[in-house]
Amino acid sequence: MTCNFCGSVVKDDAIYCPNCGEKPNTKKKNTVKEKKHEENKEEKVSETTTNSDYSFLWGILGYFVPIAGLVLFIIWKDSKPKDSKAAGIGALVRACLMLFAFIIMVFMMIFSTIMDL
Ligand SMILES: [Zn+2]
Repeated sequence: MTCNFCGSVVKDDAIYCPNCGEKPNTKKKNTVKEKKHEENKEEKVSETTTNSDYSFLWGILGYFVPIAGLVLFIIWKDSKPKDSKAAGIGALVRACLMLFAFIIMVFMMIFSTIMDL
């Protein structure tokens, strides 16, 4: 490979350039990292622009109207993943709470029957 600082040819496994004494790899690695950072930033920006900032509202809707949440989750799965996820989670949370309440009710009924005996 070539040294990024002085341009002289150095061994691939060389840590320091024999000509200038700098680390031949450091500059290259840094630029790759920076590029990755920039890509991440761009991804984040595009994510916020394609999805509305009101996804939590869809979560609330999904919570109060689980069927609507489920429908929105299926409809938006590809076009609005963030909103779809929020609506789906809302519906799921409601479903879990309802199931939990149902289980407690059943347990209480069983418990009261045992106590009556
Ligand atoms: Zn060098």
